[in-house]
Amino acid sequence: MSSSFSLPTKVRQLPFFPASFPDETFYSLISRYFLLSAHSEDEVSFEVLFGVPTSQMDFRGPAPFRLKYFVRQLPGQSRILLGKILEANCFVALVLPVITAADWDFPDPKFAETNICLDCAAEDRDDASIGMAYVHRIHQLPGVTACWRHATKFVSTCPRCAKSFRQPGKFLTAPLVDCGCGWYPSVQTTGIRAAKSDVEFAMNAHRVFEQRSYKTPASRLISFFEMHVDHSAFQKKHGRHRWRAPISVGIAEKLEQEYSTIEVASAVARYIQSGRCPNAWVANLNPHVLQGRARHRQNIDDPILLG
Ligand SMILES: [Zn+2]
Ligand SMILES: [Zn+2]
Repeated sequence: MSSSFSLPTKVRQLPFFPASFPDETFYSLISRYFLLSAHSEDEVSFEVLFGVPTSQMDFRGPAPFRLKYFVRQLPGQSRILLGKILEANCFVALVLPVITAADWDFPDPKFAETNICLDCAAEDRDDASIGMAYVHRIHQLPGVTACWRHATKFVSTCPRCAKSFRQPGKFLTAPLVDCGCGWYPSVQTTGIRAAKSDVEFAMNAHRVFEQRSYKTPASRLISFFEMHVDHSAFQKKHGRHRWRAPISVGIAEKLEQEYSTIEVASAVARYIQSGRCPNAWVANLNPHVLQGRARHRQNIDDPILLG
């Protein structure tokens, strides 16, 4: 497979770009770029970074689809940078083992964009090596509503003026910087205690995500991205013929051989779609659970819980 990029030639390199904080979301990272840039309009910054209008600004998927356009503007090798951002700032590693075939009746996973743990935010602001609050990736996983470390509920609005952190078509300002009302994250505004079950779910989700991130090399993240997010895998030419491989090639075929996951994942999807446990999928994506499920052929409608 060719590793070349088919991108517009007009792209210019950015004069600077901030380094990522630990486990920072891509939306948080580009919002910090906007705050540091000389651009006064969100629209201008967004066009510069992605070459598309802000109406296409959506960071709720496993990775933003204009990522290749973006990395071409950073110094360094684009493919390596793409792998690094997919590893450090996106959610592909979490969804990769299960979303592998086009014919799967599986709901699109949606990630949160501005789930904030007030205790983490205050800690980050007080940390001399960070100095500001930012959006943690681990807090945005589907179904996760509490911080696994502090056992507190997330907020997505300003605790003082109730303004939503996420504004349509805008980069994030508060809680990265002070809210317009004057509020900023500090030990004075601590989080509300979350239910024990929500904290346990958050811990499970954290563990699953960590395990998958650790086990998944950047090359697989890129393959998934090209096949399922920006679909560039289908635009690459091989000789005189366009490559028309089915979507279930590569990762999917390998996983199916190892785990017999089609039947298993379909059962999980039906269970989630039945609405009885809409948050279950994060825990359900553990390959070991899926493997056990395939082996024992249990009743397909039973809930599968992370062991
Ligand atoms: Zn926290
Ligand atoms: Zn406010």
